[in-house]
Amino acid sequence: MNHLYIHIPFCHRRCSYCDFNTYANLEHRIEAYVAALCAELHMLAEGAFPGGPLPTRAEQRPSPEADALPPTIFLGGGTPTMLSLDQLERVLTAASAIVPLERAEITSEANPGTVLGRDYLRGLRALGVNRLSMGVQSLHDSTLRVLGRIHSADEARRSYEEAREAGFDNINLDFIFGLPGQTQAQWEATLDTIIAWGVDHFSLYSLILEEGTPLYAQVTAGRIRLPEDDATAAMYEAAMERLGAAGYTHYEISNWARESVGPPGALFPERACAHNLAYWLNSDYLAAGAGAHGHRYPRRYHNILGVDDYIAAVGGGRLPCAEWITLTPGDLRAETMLMGLRLSAGVGEAHFAARCGLPLDAAYSDTLAELAAQGLIVRHQERVRLTPRGRMLGNQVFQRFV
Ligand code: SF4
Repeated sequence: MNHLYIHIPFCHRRCSYCDFNTYANLEHRIEAYVAALCAELHMLAEGAFPGGPLPTRAEQRPSPEADALPPTIFLGGGTPTMLSLDQLERVLTAASAIVPLERAEITSEANPGTVLGRDYLRGLRALGVNRLSMGVQSLHDSTLRVLGRIHSADEARRSYEEAREAGFDNINLDFIFGLPGQTQAQWEATLDTIIAWGVDHFSLYSLILEEGTPLYAQVTAGRIRLPEDDATAAMYEAAMERLGAAGYTHYEISNWARESVGPPGALFPERACAHNLAYWLNSDYLAAGAGAHGHRYPRRYHNILGVDDYIAAVGGGRLPCAEWITLTPGDLRAETMLMGLRLSAGVGEAHFAARCGLPLDAAYSDTLAELAAQGLIVRHQERVRLTPRGRMLGNQVFQRFV
C-alpha cells in the first residue's frame, strides 16, 4: 500500500469551529494510545484488512496517476505534535512496515503553540518527517481568540521560522477566510504577509459552520456575525489573484503550491501534497487511529471514534473498525469525478478508464456534453477540467455525477 493516514486525536483545547474527531484533556491516555496505534499498524502490515475480507485481485483496480506519486504517510489530527519524539518514532517505525520511509513524503500536522521549539522540530525532521502542515488560520489575535486557537499570530510566525531553521523545506500553512469580523482589506493584508514569508504551500478554506460546535451556537444565537457569501467569494477571488501573481500554482480548489520546475509535462507542481493528491485521484489508502477512514476499492471503513474504546478494541487483539461498506462501480465512477474535478489538472481519461474499468464517455457522455455546453467544463488533451465558472459553481457540477 502506497498511502497511509495516521490519526492522532489529541488537542490541548477544542477550537470553537472544530468537528474533527479530537479530544482535549486526554494527555494521560497518549502513551496507551500510541501503544494501540502501533499494534493496529502491525496488524495492517501483516495483511489484516478492516472492513471485511481483503479485496480480491479481481476486485482491485489500478490508479495510474496516484501510482506515479511517491509513497506517503500523513500524521493528522488532532495535534500530532502533542506526541513526544520517542512516541512519534515508535509510530513511524511501525508504519514503516506498510510504507517504506526512505522515499516517502511524510507529513505531520503541527499547531503553532504546541510545536516545542527548535530541538523538537529538528528531532521531527531527523525522524524522517519532511513536510510540515501548520494550522495558522488567521494573523489576527482577536480572531484567533474567537476561534479558540491556543496560539497568537506572533507565535505562528515564530513556529514557521523555527521550522525553516530546523531544516523543513516543504511547509504548508492552513488559513481560513470568511471569519467572524473579517474584512476584505484584512484578508488581503494577510495574503500579502504570508506571500512575503515565502511559504511552499497554502491550504485556504472558507469557514464551514459545523452544527454542534460552539461557534455554530454563537452564530445562530446572533452573538457573532460572519461575512456575507458574496464577501467570502470575493476573498477567495483575492486569494486566486494574489497567489497567482506571486507565482503559486492553484492546483486544487483550496490548495496552492509554490511554482518550481518539475519534470516536463508533470501534472502537478513539485510541492503539491502527494498524500492529498492520492485522495483527489480517488486512490486506495490505509488509515489507522481512532476515527480514521480508509479506502481500498471496493471497501471503505472507519475506525471506532473514542480513544478509550479504540484502545480497548486493539487491546482485545482485533482491528478497531467501527463500520465498513462495499462500494459499487457506480460509486467509484462518481467519486473519481467528484474528487478529480477539484484538481486543476482535472480527470485524465486514461486514469478514469483504468480506475473505473470503462471509458469516460461510456459512463458520462451526456452529462459531460451538457456541462461543456453550459461552459462549466472543458475537454482538452484527454482530460476533463472545470472552467473558472465551473470552479465557482463547483457544487452544481459535482451534483451531476451523483
Ligand atoms: S487544533 Fe485542529 S483538530 Fe484540534 S481542536 Fe483545533 S481545529 Fe480541531
